[in-house]
Amino acid sequence: PAMAAAPVATFLPGDGIGPEIAKSVRLVFETAGVPLQWEEHHFSPEYIDPETNSMVTRSALDSLLKNGVGLKGPMATPIGKGHRSLNLTLRKELGLYANIRPCMSIPGYKTKYDDVNLVTIRENTEGEYSGLEHEVVPGVVESLKVITEKASTRVAEYAFKYARENGRKKVTAVHKANIMKKADGLFLECCRQVAAKNPEIIFEEKIIDNCCMQLVKDPSQFDVLVMPNLYGDIVSDLCAGLVGGLGLTPSLNVGDGGIALAEAVHGTAPDIAGKDLANPTALLLSSVMLLRHMEMATLANRIESALLGTIAEGKYLTGDLGGKSTCTDFTKAVCDKI
Ligand code: NAD
Repeated sequence: PAMAAAPVATFLPGDGIGPEIAKSVRLVFETAGVPLQWEEHHFSPEYIDPETNSMVTRSALDSLLKNGVGLKGPMATPIGKGHRSLNLTLRKELGLYANIRPCMSIPGYKTKYDDVNLVTIRENTEGEYSGLEHEVVPGVVESLKVITEKASTRVAEYAFKYARENGRKKVTAVHKANIMKKADGLFLECCRQVAAKNPEIIFEEKIIDNCCMQLVKDPSQFDVLVMPNLYGDIVSDLCAGLVGGLGLTPSLNVGDGGIALAEAVHGTAPDIAGKDLANPTALLLSSVMLLRHMEMATLANRIESALLGTIAEGKYLTGDLGGKSTCTDFTKAVCDKI
């Protein structure tokens, strides 16, 4: 049979330090021999695509829909203009219904904990972020939280699938069903039903406030956590804080038909942009998640261990990790290990 063509992924390098850390990913992938072609797209606050009413261009969306996989750098979001937010546009147009953020202690980078190894899975499309707010009378605002059986079941199914495929043992549903009996009650019920179909995975339920306390007290007790949108937004950042902050945290957004967009969680770091000082770790770890999603686990593992090995050695660290290396030197050290 003919050789299959190399898969293609869409690459959105982004702004600020985006292009610098994107270059690092390209170099590391080349060195590791990842058989992947990149299709690059750029956005600009000067150009709002009339077809999307957003900085996200129709051609970038089409590229993502065609390729089914993409990597996104940080993007500068202009505040308070009359068009759709970039992240919301991507999420809506691509149907990215779950956000996955692994948080693990990184050997060589000391924090208060050294045994964190958990994954938060956040419902990405509804809950408090449905955008349904109105002023009933002056001084009174109603904001609607929408929870549906469809979206709750879909994200719960993804959480159990993720647990199975990644050798994880337990899924914790995080909720406030004692107070929001109907909304969170429905979310929890959907999780229970999916749990019943996955008896090999341990299922537990935790009320959000207690869960936060336990996360800070002993994060090692958690494995996979699944939760509605707002809780996921907050708890995933809390978890990033346990292991050293957003500069080290990768994420992957997944949607219908296996579409996936990986992205670093941090912003464009305007204070260090253009100075070759950025740490590419978060974007590299995000690209590793993308490779695993594409069933290229061997390559993913090779890149991840070179990356973590470089940090553990501590010889080439960027400024945010207390070192003096440039992004270029750090990247070279990772490539040398590969
Ligand atoms: P930021 O994450 O850009 O920066 C916060 C601090 O962390 C800065 O001191 C920065 O130097 C440092 N930092 C962040 N990433 C780093 C890295 N990879 N290596 C070394 N240091 C790093 O947050 P901010 O300053 O609040 O936001 C700046 C811009 O980024 C804003 O326009 C914001 O809208 C945008 N932003 C985009 C995204 C995204 O596209 N996903 C996320 C957050 C913020």
